[in-house]
Amino acid sequence: MTSFQFETPPRIVCERGAAHRLAPLLQGRRHAFVVTDAGLVQAGLIEAPVAALRKAGLLVTVHDKVEADPPEHVVLAAVDAARTAGADGVIGLGGGSSLDTAKLVALLAASPQPLAGIYGPQRASGPRLPLIQVPTTAGTGSEATPTSVVSTPDHQKRGVISSLLFPDVAVLDAELTLALPPAPTAMTGVDAMVHAIEAYTTRHLKNPISDALAVRALQLLDRHLGRAIAQGDDIVAREGMLLGSLLAGMAFANAPVAAIHALAHPLGSHFHLPHGLANALVMVPVLRHNLPVAGPLYAELARALDPSLHGVADGAAAEAFIARMARHLAQAPIAQRLRDVGIAPTDLPMLARAAMGVQRLLANNPREINQTDALVLYTQAH
Ligand SMILES: [Zn+2]
Repeated sequence: MTSFQFETPPRIVCERGAAHRLAPLLQGRRHAFVVTDAGLVQAGLIEAPVAALRKAGLLVTVHDKVEADPPEHVVLAAVDAARTAGADGVIGLGGGSSLDTAKLVALLAASPQPLAGIYGPQRASGPRLPLIQVPTTAGTGSEATPTSVVSTPDHQKRGVISSLLFPDVAVLDAELTLALPPAPTAMTGVDAMVHAIEAYTTRHLKNPISDALAVRALQLLDRHLGRAIAQGDDIVAREGMLLGSLLAGMAFANAPVAAIHALAHPLGSHFHLPHGLANALVMVPVLRHNLPVAGPLYAELARALDPSLHGVADGAAAEAFIARMARHLAQAPIAQRLRDVGIAPTDLPMLARAAMGVQRLLANNPREINQTDALVLYTQAH
């Protein structure tokens, strides 16, 4: 076995209603800064957790100005607000954008350093404020990753990657996800599946702990996605999705994602597609491209999802895996093709060129993808 390292949040709380019991997790802190977005406040998801914190004697500042794909100025405004409030603990409560912003608030409020100077791996320095992450979507797995993605003024997305960005506690409260509509449920759920698949097949840093987590994640997501979409108030399905998303996040925090995310990247930056949808649109073409190299690993995943495939040859099992993933997409209430989201055939060469800028992720792909390949893949997705 090759040597490896594995990092993950030190504490995970998975409990219905846990969002109403956050105060003890802040251990003696006096002023909680809650990072969220206005939509969640309007949906009424923030009120009860905040009331519970105040009842426990904490001061609370709610900062609800997070935007999707948070721009630098949004992150920096949140940091300023936390400092001005005198907060000594941070709670991220929301989707991936809120959790990513909360990571940087916890870091930069305690250790002033220029955001522009800490993009990339392990360039940030601590300390940071105590950080609790409470996801309200089952998808990004941000509560279990050391990465925060920020949109820079030049329309790029850049990541701060630092062990300091793992939270002290990740809190899974499936009750928070019951009201998520079918489309975002599907998009975020597919994103989580892609995290598990790409972690399992990554060319770099694949390791046995991530493998075990990715398999279990995919089993949970595969079993519960359809039900979570069709019957949003099914708490068991929601719990399965939230746990699957966390496990996939733990996996890809250590065994990084690859070409599906790389090809999804320009769809987000140029056409503002939600991250999960962008992944969904390019997923099957990339899986097919990888098949000649990753086939045996896809076969392993296929057998983990369908034990009747034990004894079936790798080639057939790998095909069954791709067909199973394609079925999930076809049944999801989301756009199926690039042409359905306003992307013209003439846009595809630009996308292929832009995808080549995401070498950080392409390098992890089991099979090489050059610009010509990328154009073929986008054409297949169109
Ligand atoms: Zn993702």
